[in-house]
Amino acid sequence: MAYVITSTCTKDELCVEACPVDCIHPKKDEPGFEEAETLLVNPAECIDCGACVPVCPTSSIYPLDELPAELAAHAERNAAYFATV
Ligand code: SF4
Ligand code: SF4
Repeated sequence: MAYVITSTCTKDELCVEACPVDCIHPKKDEPGFEEAETLLVNPAECIDCGACVPVCPTSSIYPLDELPAELAAHAERNAAYFATV
């Protein structure tokens, strides 16, 4: 299981600061930040701690098992990003 960032993300990086394992990318100082629609969670590194959820002002982050059906594609979108970098 991993957490998933969805399309309402504003890329303000508040979750990046809260994440203990630094698995949310791309960050402002990393390649691809400008082009990225949202930040994304690397599912291979996420430890499911949930620390990112309460700090997100747009409620864009869901545990995979609570991801609404209409947002299901975002799980694949998050994972796919890390498969290609
Ligand atoms: S805290 Fe929420 S809005 Fe901000 S970068 Fe993270 S997911 Fe996006
Ligand atoms: S659940 Fe924890 S480890 Fe996973 S992205 Fe959020 S803060 Fe990082």
